[in-house]
Amino acid sequence: MLAHAFFPPDGRAQFDDDEHYTDGTPSGTNLLWVATHEFGHALGIHHSNVRNALMYPYYTGYAPNFNLQDDDVAAIQSLYGMFLNNADFFGLEEMLTQLKEFFCKHKILW
Ligand SMILES: [Zn+2]
Repeated sequence: MLAHAFFPPDGRAQFDDDEHYTDGTPSGTNLLWVATHEFGHALGIHHSNVRNALMYPYYTGYAPNFNLQDDDVAAIQSLYGMFLNNADFFGLEEMLTQLKEFFCKHKILW
């Protein structure tokens, strides 16, 4: 197991120390994929049987243009609704950048 997260209201996420987490390379295990998948669980999303979805239960390897798939968007919107005003939504790319900075700054995984 690479990582694990608890569903709400707990929401804790745990990452396996033995895993070699990386960013931007096919070697190792892509942290953004794993972290975003686990945070999906922490937000209440269950696994998807759609192969290219982020919430697919198996790590499918590094993908350079990582992004949420329609199935993931539908899952989170079914729980939390849609942003009706784009100004309220700061975007996946910015969220991922902040996530990277957080993990680097706190030297949690690298
Ligand atoms: Zn999972």
